[in-house]
Amino acid sequence: MIDNIQKILKKYFGYDSFRKGQKEIISDVINNRDVVAVMPTGAGKSICFQVPAALFEGTTIVISPLISLMKDQVDNLNEVGIKATYINSTLNSIEIKNRMSDILAGKYKLVYIAPERLESIAFVDSLKSINIPFVAVDEAHCISQWGHDFRPSYRKISRFIDSIYPHPIVGAYTATATERVKQDIISLLNLKNPSVYVTGFDRENLYFSVLKGVNNENFILSYLSKNKGVTGIIYTATRKEAESIYTLLIKNNIKAGVYHAGLSDEDRNNAQNKFAYDDIEVMVATNAFGMGIDKSNVRFVIHNNIPKNMEAYYQEAGRAGRDGEKSECILLFAPKDIQLQSYFIDESNLSMERKANEYEKLRSMVDYCHTSKCLRKYILRYFSEEATYEKCDNCSNCNDDSEMVDITLEAKKIFSCVYRVKQSFGSGIVAEILKGSKSKKVLDRRLNKISTYGIMKEYTKKNIVDMINKLAADNYLNLSNDGYPVLKLTNKAVAVLKNDESVYIKTVKVKKSLSIDNELFEYLRELRKSIAITEKVPPYIVFSDVSLKEMSTFMPVNKEELLNIKGVGEVKYEKYGERFLVIIDDYIKNKKIDIGSIRNNLNQELSISSRNFSRSNNSINKEEKKKSHIITYEIYKQGKSIDEIAKIREMKERTIEDHIVMCLREGMDIDALEIVPPKYIEMIKEALNNCKENRLSPVKQMLPEEVTYFWIRLVKYGR
Ligand code: ADP
Repeated sequence: MIDNIQKILKKYFGYDSFRKGQKEIISDVINNRDVVAVMPTGAGKSICFQVPAALFEGTTIVISPLISLMKDQVDNLNEVGIKATYINSTLNSIEIKNRMSDILAGKYKLVYIAPERLESIAFVDSLKSINIPFVAVDEAHCISQWGHDFRPSYRKISRFIDSIYPHPIVGAYTATATERVKQDIISLLNLKNPSVYVTGFDRENLYFSVLKGVNNENFILSYLSKNKGVTGIIYTATRKEAESIYTLLIKNNIKAGVYHAGLSDEDRNNAQNKFAYDDIEVMVATNAFGMGIDKSNVRFVIHNNIPKNMEAYYQEAGRAGRDGEKSECILLFAPKDIQLQSYFIDESNLSMERKANEYEKLRSMVDYCHTSKCLRKYILRYFSEEATYEKCDNCSNCNDDSEMVDITLEAKKIFSCVYRVKQSFGSGIVAEILKGSKSKKVLDRRLNKISTYGIMKEYTKKNIVDMINKLAADNYLNLSNDGYPVLKLTNKAVAVLKNDESVYIKTVKVKKSLSIDNELFEYLRELRKSIAITEKVPPYIVFSDVSLKEMSTFMPVNKEELLNIKGVGEVKYEKYGERFLVIIDDYIKNKKIDIGSIRNNLNQELSISSRNFSRSNNSINKEEKKKSHIITYEIYKQGKSIDEIAKIREMKERTIEDHIVMCLREGMDIDALEIVPPKYIEMIKEALNNCKENRLSPVKQMLPEEVTYFWIRLVKYGR
């Protein structure tokens, strides 16, 4: 049995090994045992029900509350060759009818449904006629009113399950479950002696950092300019801030989108799709953007403000790095944001008891920003898990390389000014006084007469406000809420004034930490994007970043080697493999790369010997690689056209085109220019000559839309 599940994992999903907990969960399910699996976001819960579904006879029902995620998972399954579909409110009645008749004909291995569907008696009745071996309940915490996303329709699930005969195995999956929620899941789903797996909350690939009192806009711009082309999310506390950061990014030519509850459904869908399809790199959003983001290659999540509690923070930050690749979660802390969150709690219509509870949670969120200990350890402890280490070496507290700058003099001037104005003004006016501003506000109140007026002339007002924010973030100043935020001195500031204590602040060095300097990766990404457009699925469904990164590192040169890349299963190989091999082959030849020595180094460094990458260029099984395009060549030489060959060979035209280009590049006798419409040949030659880059997409952009990549490649290699 274990062999079987391993084979499915490799064949369909292209993975060599299971992640923590997956094998045990899957084994239990296929051995007829109900399971509860609590695994963090990105840990790989889906595979825990998809692999058993692929193995079982009959149709597995997956209940999920997230409509957009359903479509993603169904696209993904169909891409890897496991037939799946979904029924939800996005479909019209004809589509539902058609899908239902295919479901009843047993055409699918998995059917995803929203829990609300179970309220239809006709729907539940019709499912009784098919074989349902297994029901997977995703986001199972929604069944409990103690969880954070209670869904009343989840309560209908157990009745549905009980109506199926024979009784199916039930699997419940969630990322967050306290003891109380876990017990609710077991009893409300009526699970029979389930095995319960909690794999832990740690997300090792995420780097956590907290930056206090920085100028958010400056930081965001410099982070994005250091990490160009990298995909991420910026969360803001309000719609207004989301709009203003979005405008800032657009002004700075960053491919950004915006998402919040104030936009129309259409605008939100558009933004979400553009993000999924890599058309925009940075999404600026409120917490309305979340449920259902399955995009695996989100490399950073920046919080422009603190969220309401650690649960919300970990869930939002956890949208980074679902594919297991190194990613960053950065929280920008400013004390004024505590006031905003307190205001939200005050204004809510929660009971006094629940409000007190929310304040307590906000306190823990603020403590996270102020702790000087390991941030990861803090997070784990918050979720009742004890880390085995003191330092994770993967957070901004463990890896603190910021410089401390002495600002004692400036701090004293600021504190004195706050004192002189009787602690009754906000940072704007205090900064104006220190700057020596002649603004109406200052003059009307005769604030130009106080002794600290103009003592920081040499700074800009913005510099002074930034310094005040830093001092507030480090607890020297408090922001009281007397209708508007007013600066007050804390005991820490009084000690500086009285005892001459020094004040140091940290400077933040924005580093290039994420962008991949790899030309081949960019070429592969370009190909992935063009496939995604034709196939109408998001690029990460074609191949994840992990797969592309491995391809650009190991440079597989034949089928066997490509199948060794993480995430390349057999169906995906058949669909796209050759096109990726062509790009890699192209790159190796253009750059005159000695594959043998690259492999030797990699094998030594990473001890990947268990994976089958040849060490020497000579030992590469060229025969196997050649076979397919040589067959195409032979048919082509019989005078057949590209589409005729595609029909004869039952392959896509794009694959046959790739074969022709491969033949050309290997010097076989093909009159390439005969294939290209004559009126474009000169134009393409000129564009190729004028383009300084080796990539084809800039060349394509110079040409009329109807000119295909295939023609460009024919002219390029046929000359
Ligand atoms: P979750 O539902 O727990 O948030 P997913 O099921 O979406 O996580 O999985 C997150 C990512 O991890 C996906 O890109 C998935 O393909 C990948 N993944 C899952 N299992 C494995 C595995 N055994 N090896 C490598 N990648 C995996």
